[in-house]
Amino acid sequence: MTAATAYTDTLLLIDGEWRPAAEGRTIDVVNPATDEVIGTVAHATRPDLDAALAAVDRGFKVWSATSAYERSKIMRKAADLLRERAGKIAQLMTLEQGKPVAEAKGEVLAGADVIDWFAEEARRTYGQIIPARLPGVTQMAIKLPVGPVAAFTPWNFPINQVVRKLSAAIAAGCSIIVKAPEETPASPAELLRVFVDAGIPAGVVNLVYGVPAEISEYLIPHPVIRKISFTGSTPVGKHLAALAGQHMKLATMELGGHAPAIVFGDADIDKAVKVLAASKYRNAGQVCVSPTRFLVQENVYERVVDAFTVAAKSIKVGNGWDDGTQMGPLANERRIPVLQELIADAVEHGARLTTGGGRIGNKGNFFEPTVLADVPVEARIMNEEPFGPVAIFRSFDTLDEVIEEANRLPFGLASYAFTGSADTANQLGLRIEAGMTTINHNGLALPEVPFGGIKDSGHGTEGGSEAINAYLSTKFVTQMSG
Ligand code: NAD
Repeated sequence: MTAATAYTDTLLLIDGEWRPAAEGRTIDVVNPATDEVIGTVAHATRPDLDAALAAVDRGFKVWSATSAYERSKIMRKAADLLRERAGKIAQLMTLEQGKPVAEAKGEVLAGADVIDWFAEEARRTYGQIIPARLPGVTQMAIKLPVGPVAAFTPWNFPINQVVRKLSAAIAAGCSIIVKAPEETPASPAELLRVFVDAGIPAGVVNLVYGVPAEISEYLIPHPVIRKISFTGSTPVGKHLAALAGQHMKLATMELGGHAPAIVFGDADIDKAVKVLAASKYRNAGQVCVSPTRFLVQENVYERVVDAFTVAAKSIKVGNGWDDGTQMGPLANERRIPVLQELIADAVEHGARLTTGGGRIGNKGNFFEPTVLADVPVEARIMNEEPFGPVAIFRSFDTLDEVIEEANRLPFGLASYAFTGSADTANQLGLRIEAGMTTINHNGLALPEVPFGGIKDSGHGTEGGSEAINAYLSTKFVTQMSG
């Protein structure tokens, strides 16, 4: 990559204005490929949050009174601006998050598709007319925006995690305060900038950064905020959902996973390995829907482990900025000791390390694409989300046995399967306890299809025609003529 983009310091967006934090505080942003401080992000404290709350309250009054047709037009303009700026925004994302530039650009362009999808949904928030018992009575169920939203998003997909929440909220007529990730602040700020530049009224979209717990503890109970949406780990999600419940706030929770990836002996093995290896090491495995527990039928187990190991070894790890890099560094240094501990524990429990297992070099958070075979269920990594480039393998014999293993954990987000049998595919679709099952390909996370988990992986969907409902309430109005 030669066309260098200067990394920009990130400000808060409050009431349509980009501004430094009231107390002038900032947080350093570090390039995870070089360990260099590349810029800063404004650190909001109470006065900034109060200003954002006042703005989002005013913004809601204006935006909820704006027609769906106008909202949709502004959103489509924002999507076009995002596409135009995708190259530059992708470079910012790579500098702060580490993923290869091509992957970052794909994320930005996918973000534009999400905005377009919700722009169209904005015009379809239909209610109903319910037949009345008496003449002259009209009974209506109408859909109204729930009110100002607070959204909390993580660093693994700096644009994608924000765009789903923000687009659904504003399509419905809500205003929003986004608490985006401090580690990767510049690219989500560029996402909000396209809405400002497209002409969204002041106060409708606001952006803050700071200490996540301080911000969530203040915003969630605040009377102005009517709904929250969080993406992140299950323990934090449970904490925030409890806080939301205590204050009777609606909540969407998109939390951790531990996706089973099941390969049957009758599957197209080459295709299964190719698709699953690409999915596993995308974004260095820092993906909530990443395939994690590879459950392979006994008669093809060794073949799959061997082929997967070859695929893992062939991945070019490096600075996401460099041409040809397929996997960048981990976004945060804190994940390295966690992964090392999980791998050591698996090996102590008898697992076989077929490739990888360690940090690469001592500058940047690079980690080897790793494969662990024969991992017993007692190993921590079979129970805890690794959130890194580690594939763990076990063999199975029967369909019932593998479904039991797939459903063993409290997580229920994504699941993957490869089989040549239509009957097996049907059974998996019905019996795996997960919000999403993708069979014989990876078809997850398109704007028009549901995206979300069950059990400890959260609740609510952030994609498809149902996603906007989380930002709407149903009001009943009955009217008698005369
Ligand atoms: P973490 O639990 O410290 O943070 C996860 C995310 O939640 C971060 O974006 C953080 O800013 C935010 N957060 C933490 N405490 C918060 C609070 N009290 N209020 C509001 N936001 C809060 O973990 P981490 O080290 O950043 O990431 C590792 C773990 O997080 C992974 O094991 C994974 O389970 C989870 N995670 C999940 C996703 C996802 O897409 N579902 C994304 C990133 C991280």
